[in-house]
Amino acid sequence: MKTKTIVVLGAGESGVGAAILAQKQGFDVFVSDAGLIRPEHISLLQQYKINYEQEKHSESKLLQIADLVIKSPGIATENVLVQAFIKKGIAVIDEIELAYRYATSKSKIVAITGSNGKTTSTLLIYHLLKTAGYNAALVGNIGFSFAKCVAENPADYYVVETSSFQLDAIDKFAPDVALLLNISPDHLDRYNYEMDNYIAAKFKIIQNKKASDYFIYNRENEYVKAGLARFYPQANQNMIGLSESHIRNLGEILQVENSNFAIAKSNLTLEGKHNYFNISAAVQAVLALGLNDEQIRQGLATFKNEAHRLEFVANINGVDYINDSKATNVDSVWYALDAMQKPIVWIVGGVDKGNDYSVLFPLVKEKVRAIVCLGKDNSKIKSAFQDIQPLIEETISVGEAIKVASLYAENGDVVLLSPACASFDLFKNYIDRGNQFRNLLLQEQKTLKEGIKITLNIPLEMNPAQQNTDTNH
Ligand code: ADP
Repeated sequence: MKTKTIVVLGAGESGVGAAILAQKQGFDVFVSDAGLIRPEHISLLQQYKINYEQEKHSESKLLQIADLVIKSPGIATENVLVQAFIKKGIAVIDEIELAYRYATSKSKIVAITGSNGKTTSTLLIYHLLKTAGYNAALVGNIGFSFAKCVAENPADYYVVETSSFQLDAIDKFAPDVALLLNISPDHLDRYNYEMDNYIAAKFKIIQNKKASDYFIYNRENEYVKAGLARFYPQANQNMIGLSESHIRNLGEILQVENSNFAIAKSNLTLEGKHNYFNISAAVQAVLALGLNDEQIRQGLATFKNEAHRLEFVANINGVDYINDSKATNVDSVWYALDAMQKPIVWIVGGVDKGNDYSVLFPLVKEKVRAIVCLGKDNSKIKSAFQDIQPLIEETISVGEAIKVASLYAENGDVVLLSPACASFDLFKNYIDRGNQFRNLLLQEQKTLKEGIKITLNIPLEMNPAQQNTDTNH
């Protein structure tokens, strides 16, 4: 019988991982990338003797050889080439679908999706499993290929951060535990500006749910409710709904809804209502996988979140500086503003993804002392907030933004970088934006002398516009 050929479109982390797994499974594999392939990916392809092309898609050849296509999540289903495969009757799937097919049936999969909180919750679940001694792997949208992991280091538990773009191209993917943390408007450009399409993509995470699989979801989020009614109306076992109002009404103890698990907030390393929600969802996930309360408590006490998510950077002249550069949509900013216990000088701006700022008005009115825009075009922010907080300044570099913010901030305030926008007008990505913010502040803290205002030392410089790599699907 002729060996089947898998064509992989896109040679990023997921594409190369898919190619390696496909090769190991005995397929002929051909990788095609319209851009330049990164050197480390080329050497992996060469190491595995996988054929590839770069800076082009040889369309007629690809259409001729492919029995199955794996597309990078960055390539939309509407892409002309993808559509050409589909028209020819050739299935186009995502790398997580391939990985799922070849992960051993004994292994368990936890998949986490949502508009916000995916990375935090994924890392937390992984950490809880690891500290409890489970053989777990951290994969998916978080940056490590699920397929490569299945090919090279199979694990007993896969914790998969799952974006809507990945879910767009699944077929049989059926996680043992699925989490849907929330849905808020984001990435609508990929979904024909239809919220329903985005909701439908998120709900694919349970399209193959069996009664024994768990679904942990946000039962008060209006878009999740709409999706449940529309895409999942049938009653099913092991559906665990968590409510945001429960989280809002917590005292000093975090009691995880629909469980007996409780822990004092003082024993947690994460703060803020959004994080209490993420913790509740993560605890439910690991309870479903058999962890006991003591194991969970130990894991929660030692967890450290990724940078750029409400990351405390420094206290300078009595002012706290917080880096929330990953807050690239309005919903995540709402939680950041809500979490602050002190008056805020808010650094906001960048590339607006169709934001509706009105949900922020009450919090800005109550807590924000001044607004510092950090972006090339701030007109939308200015017109949205001018009647609520007229102190609005415009800046075009992190140094300038810190300098201006420090002028407004008083002893006991907080300067919060929580941009609500993508970063690619002035930065490489949100990490670059957050790193510049942190590094300038730490440098400043080091050289700061008693009585010298922070504003004296930070240079005013422009950052060149660079390519966007923000991801928050
Ligand atoms: P994602 O991977 O979905 O982008 P992250 O964990 O990286 O999520 O967090 C992104 C931003 O969203 C951060 O600013 C963070 O503080 C905020 N955030 C985290 N969890 C939630 C949540 N459950 N609801 C709203 N915002 C959240």
